[in-house]
Amino acid sequence: MREPDVSAMKFDIITIFPRMVEAGLAEGVVGRAAASGVLDVAVHDLRAYTGDRHRTVDDVPYGGGPGMVMKVEPVVRALASIRSRRGAPGAVVLLSPQGRVFSQHEAERLRTAGHVALICGRYEGVDERVRELVTTDEISIGDYVLSGGELPALVIVDAVGRLVPGVVGDAGSVEEDSFSRGLLDHPHYTRPATFAGHDVPAVLLSGHHAEVRRWRQRQALARTLARRPDLLERASLDEDERRMVADLERDAARGEGAGEEQDDRVGEPTGAKGTGHGRD
Ligand code: SAM
Repeated sequence: MREPDVSAMKFDIITIFPRMVEAGLAEGVVGRAAASGVLDVAVHDLRAYTGDRHRTVDDVPYGGGPGMVMKVEPVVRALASIRSRRGAPGAVVLLSPQGRVFSQHEAERLRTAGHVALICGRYEGVDERVRELVTTDEISIGDYVLSGGELPALVIVDAVGRLVPGVVGDAGSVEEDSFSRGLLDHPHYTRPATFAGHDVPAVLLSGHHAEVRRWRQRQALARTLARRPDLLERASLDEDERRMVADLERDAARGEGAGEEQDDRVGEPTGAKGTGHGRD
């Protein structure tokens, strides 16, 4: 078994809604990892870094217009405090719909930073000088606008956190996840073997580990080809996998589907036509 990494990954989240973030960190694998110290996650209430008795974090926009803008000083103070108490973050991320779109590759990059601070915006956004003065990365979780950066921060902590050894119990499951090898994951089944007339593919019940591995490999390729062919162009495939893709493409060209639907068909025997197992 792999030894868990002793150097815990650190996250510092700056928000005006600390309870919202804490609630999101309370459950699941990330919650357990935070409780056990494998992940060191600190949530900072931005209002604690304001300088007035109303604990003001926002103000009207210069130049007029609707809404409010988050002030620069509390954010800069919060980060200075994090630096002195918890060390300098390797990455300071401003959550923003205008940022680079988050991906598994970005998650892996942030993992190597070791210590990540996340700034959650609200209102119309954050004073631009936050980006200019203290931010190393501006990250979006997708092309839509949310009311705040808290959910995006939780998304990032989850995606980066599960890459830290010891967070997900079985390291193999992270390695097989979608995107980790540039492919989508294969389908998964658990008991019962039959439900509402839908059977688990026979190969998964066969006990033949090599056959199961091959079926999963082919399914992952078929799914990626059918749903995200753009990923296949960038994936690093071995010779065997390239051959499988060529097979799947040939089937698709013959109108036999890209293999996914055929292989998914319930109760299909291991060597059935269209699965490719007969040819292998
Ligand atoms: N006026 C801003 C704009 O159009 O770019 C949107 C502000 S949004 C209502 C408030 C905050 O939510 C942002 O400052 C950011 O922190 C967060 N946010 C909203 N959508 C996001 C997304 N897709 N990814 C990351 N953060 C987002």
